[in-house]
Amino acid sequence: MSTLEIAVIGSGPAGLYTAEALIKQAALLPVPPRLRVDVLDRLPTPYGLVRYGVAPDHKSIKSIADYLRGVLEHQDVRFLGGVHLGTDVTRDELLGCYDAVVYATGAMRDRRLAIPGEDLPGSYAATDFVNWYCGHPDIDPDAFTLDAESVAVIGVGNVAVDVARILARDPAELHSTDVPQPVFDALAASKVREVNVIGRRGPAQAKFTTKELRELGELPGVEIVVRGEEIEADPAADQDRRIRGNLTVLRGWAGRPPQGGGPQGAESRGAELPGSPGHARRLTIRFWLRPVAVEGTERVTGMTVERTAIDDRGVLAGTGEYQTLGAQMVLRSVGYQSVPLPGLPFDERTATVPNEAGRVLADGGPLPGEYVAGWLKRGPTGVIGTNKSDAAETVRSLLADLAGGPGPGDVPLPRAGLLPYPDPQDPLRYQPGGTTLRAPQDPPQAPGQRPGVADALARRGVRPVSYQDWLRIEAAEVELARSLGRGGRVKLPGRDALLAACRPPAG
Ligand code: NAP
Repeated sequence: MSTLEIAVIGSGPAGLYTAEALIKQAALLPVPPRLRVDVLDRLPTPYGLVRYGVAPDHKSIKSIADYLRGVLEHQDVRFLGGVHLGTDVTRDELLGCYDAVVYATGAMRDRRLAIPGEDLPGSYAATDFVNWYCGHPDIDPDAFTLDAESVAVIGVGNVAVDVARILARDPAELHSTDVPQPVFDALAASKVREVNVIGRRGPAQAKFTTKELRELGELPGVEIVVRGEEIEADPAADQDRRIRGNLTVLRGWAGRPPQGGGPQGAESRGAELPGSPGHARRLTIRFWLRPVAVEGTERVTGMTVERTAIDDRGVLAGTGEYQTLGAQMVLRSVGYQSVPLPGLPFDERTATVPNEAGRVLADGGPLPGEYVAGWLKRGPTGVIGTNKSDAAETVRSLLADLAGGPGPGDVPLPRAGLLPYPDPQDPLRYQPGGTTLRAPQDPPQAPGQRPGVADALARRGVRPVSYQDWLRIEAAEVELARSLGRGGRVKLPGRDALLAACRPPAG
C-alpha cells in the first residue's frame, strides 16, 4: 500500500487540528491508508496563535499547546519550521510533492480604520502590540516603550480586552509568565495610568465574551469605569446568554460609586492624572463612540470620536456630537484579516479563500488537491476550539475527494480514486471526471517516485527547523526562566535567538 502524503501549511490550532483530524479520520476508513502529514510553518516555532496570540496571563488557554504537542509528536506527523510558502517552496512544488495541501495560515494582518492620523507615531495595530508582548519573531522586542499615560483602545472584541488587561495589569503579576524579558522590563517601566476601551456601537453589540470581560474587574488595583447612560440597551438584547452576561457585568460596574485614590472616576475625566508609580490604573469602557480621527502632528495626542445611535431604520448613525479624548497611544483593535497566499484564489471582500466545506474554489469549481482550514477558510471568528470542528470538516472533504466518492450533486471530485474507499470493488462508486489530476486507474505514486519537499528546500539552501530543533528552543526557554527566576518558561526574544537555540554552533 502506498502512503498518503498531505502537507498542512501552518502549525497553529487550525493546522494541527487538521493534522489530528487526518490521523483520526484516515484510521476509520475501511482500508486505512498509511499516512504522512508534513506540517510546514514559516516560523521556526509551532503552535501559531496559541504561542503568539493568546495573552501570557491566560495560562489555561496557553496549555492547549500541551494537547497540540501530542499531534506534533505523532509518528505520522513531521514538523518543518522556518519554511515560507512562496519563497522557500512554491505552491506548484507542494502540489507535485503531496496528494493534497491544506492551507491553514490564519489571519496575520490588521484591519484598518481608514481615518486621518491612523499612521501617526503612537498609533499601532493591536496585532503588533499582541505580537510584541507574545514575543513574535517578526517584531523587535524593543518595539514598544510605554511612556503614554493614557491609551485609547479602539474596538470591543476579545483582543481589545486582552490588550487593555495587559496594559492595566500590575506588571508584577506578569513576572511568572513567558513574556520575553525586554517586554517584561518595558511593562514594569510603563507610565500608563488610564486605558479607554472604545466601542462604536452599544454593549449589546460588543464582541467580547463574558468570562474575558469579567476578568477585567478582578485586576488588583485597577478601577473599572462604565457610564450608566451608555449601557442602557434594548431589552431584547437580554435574550442572548452572552449579551445578558456582559450586560450584568457592565451594570455591576456602572452602579459602583467612583473610587478615590489614583485616577479619578468617570465624572472627573480630563483631570490631571497622577504620574507617580504605584497609583492604581483606571480602565474605562465606552460605547456609542465612532472613531473620527487620531489627533496629533508629530505623534498621537488624542482621539476624536463622534457619538452614535441606532436610527429609526435600525442603522448605526453619527449624531454630530464630537469629543476628543486625550491619549498618547492608540491601539486599533478592530479585527484581524488573512493575507492572500501566492497563486491561491482570495476574496478581498471577506479576506478569506473561497471554499466549500474546505475545498478551495476557483471559477465555481474545486481546485484539485487544495483545501483550507481555520481563519483563512472562515474569517477571524470563534475561539481556538472552533478550529477543531472546522478542520474535521475540511478533512472529511479531502478524504472523500481522495476516495473518489461523489461530490456535491454527484460530480466526480478532483484527485478521486487515490484511496480505496468506500468500496474499491464497486465501480459504481466512482466515475472518472474531467478535473481528475491523476486518473484513478493510475496507481498512486509511492513516496520516492515523486519529488519530496526536502529536495525543493535543499535546492534553495533552506534547512527546515525540525521538531527536535524546536525541543532545543523549548529547553533554552525553560533554562532562561530558571536563570531569571521567572516561572516555567521565558520566550527567547527575536528570530536570531530562536535560531541560535535550535542550531547551537558545532563543537
Ligand atoms: P472581533 O471580535 O471581530 O472584534 C472587533 C471589534 O472591532 C468589534 O467591536 C468591532 O465593532 C470593532 N470594529 C471593527 N471595525 C471598526 C471600526 N472601523 N471602528 C471602530 N470599531 C470597529 O475581533 P478581535 O477582537 O480581533 O478577535 C478576533 C477573534 O479572536 C474573535 O473570535 C475573538 O473572540 C478571538 N479571541 C478570543 C480570545 C479569548 O477567547 N480569550 C482572545 C482574543 C481573541 P463592530 O462589531 O461594530 O464591527
